[in-house]
Amino acid sequence: MNDKLRHLDDEQLLLSLYGAAGPEAAHLGSCPECAARLRRLEARRAAWLAAPAPPPNAARLRDQRAAVYAAIGEKRNRPYWRLIQAGALACSVLAAVLLYRPAPAPVETASQPVITDQELFNDVADMMNRETPIAAEPLMALFAPQESQESQQP
Ligand SMILES: [Zn+2]
Repeated sequence: MNDKLRHLDDEQLLLSLYGAAGPEAAHLGSCPECAARLRRLEARRAAWLAAPAPPPNAARLRDQRAAVYAAIGEKRNRPYWRLIQAGALACSVLAAVLLYRPAPAPVETASQPVITDQELFNDVADMMNRETPIAAEPLMALFAPQESQESQQP
């Protein structure tokens, strides 16, 4: 409701002028003031488009050309470290390309000892028959009485 009462700003009017207005352009249908502003803009645009383009100013073009040449000259006089940076980047890319090797395929390790089924069965049976797991033995040794440790040592 408030949006319908608010007039379009200059940007919204310009968007309407070029046919790119959003939903707020519906305000133009109900507001004679904004519609009149849009008609004035359309008339100015039509007059501007109908008028012949002014001839180019030779002195201004000459100044622009001189400014462009001056800017090009400044760029050529840039410090050499930019060239060094570009060279370092190119060298690192080249080194990465040259040093890249695909990862070797995993090799089957035949050096591992082959365990027979009987040995595996014996190991498992031995582990199951233990009172305490092998991993817990160092921890259990901490709580063992001091004399028994000394007696175990030959
Ligand atoms: Zn309005």
